[in-house]
Amino acid sequence: MDAQELANAVIAGDRRALARSITLVESARADHRAKAIELVALARAHGRQALRIGLSGTPGVGKSTFIEAFGMQLLARGLRVAVLAVDPSSARSGGSILGDKTRMDRLSREPAAFIRPSPSQAQMGGVARRTREAVALCEAAGFDVVLVETVGVGQSETVVAEICDLFLLLLAPAGGDELQGVKRGIMEMADMILVNKADGDLKAAATRTCADYAGALRLLRHRPQDPEGFPKAMMVSAVAETGMAEAWAEMSALADWRRANGHWDSRRATQAQHWFREEVRQGLLAVLDREPAKGSMTALGAKVLAGTLSPEAAAAEMLALLGRS
Ligand code: GDP
Repeated sequence: MDAQELANAVIAGDRRALARSITLVESARADHRAKAIELVALARAHGRQALRIGLSGTPGVGKSTFIEAFGMQLLARGLRVAVLAVDPSSARSGGSILGDKTRMDRLSREPAAFIRPSPSQAQMGGVARRTREAVALCEAAGFDVVLVETVGVGQSETVVAEICDLFLLLLAPAGGDELQGVKRGIMEMADMILVNKADGDLKAAATRTCADYAGALRLLRHRPQDPEGFPKAMMVSAVAETGMAEAWAEMSALADWRRANGHWDSRRATQAQHWFREEVRQGLLAVLDREPAKGSMTALGAKVLAGTLSPEAAAAEMLALLGRS
């Protein structure tokens, strides 16, 4: 199938075509890349939009349990749900988020749901592009909600927040009375904090944790893209399946408000600009790994190592060479 035929099949809702298309965008082969770019452009041109929800949380906080319960509730509302993962650590750890299909057993059997395990590739620039393109393909395939899961390591939250319309942080109830070392930068990215495991013996701790985070969120600077009361902290239980309807109501209210106030489109436009710059940056870095630049880097690096050329002079020479090539 050429890119146009593949795009048509994806848009017609053919799941195998969608899976094949995502495999294509994941490929590093140059001929695949050219086809992938054409395919994604066709998919984007179709103009369908999903609500893109990013979800981050440390391992064990309950992400997959939450996504399954929340996803099932969305399906019950007649919505189609796709789940993708950004997992820069999977190459190292062997195991990966979404790697084990049985983790979302019920959801994975639903015809209106599509779950894509995270492939094991480590390089962040590549992960970001692949996920962005997979999101675009899922949108073209007519999914109403695209959930993008990430473990909270390194840059992955930033990547997901820059891909999604809403960014959720999933936390577990804290044992002590201090905030769980969530970095301020990550708090500032969150549109909602969901304190999971608000059930059984953990309910009291969840209530306290939720109040702590609600307090911390109130101290953050008001963002123009937020209506009154956001960002917000709420309690959920993925196991008891409570708080899901409330969380969805808040997500929908926030998305509707942003749409009505021009923030939806402007956020997507700003994200597109961000990714354009990022792609150029990545492209420039990739030049260094290819000949002839690679050879010059090696040769100049050897001179620096031998002490015959200063690092600054070598860098200036390298940059001059790049300017000419
Ligand atoms: P992930 O690593 O973030 O994807 O976490 P999992 O979804 O695999 O859950 C980790 C553990 O927490 C599992 O043993 C779950 O059964 C448990 N868990 C998840 N959600 C809840 C919840 O709402 N309440 C309770 N009590 N346990 C939960």
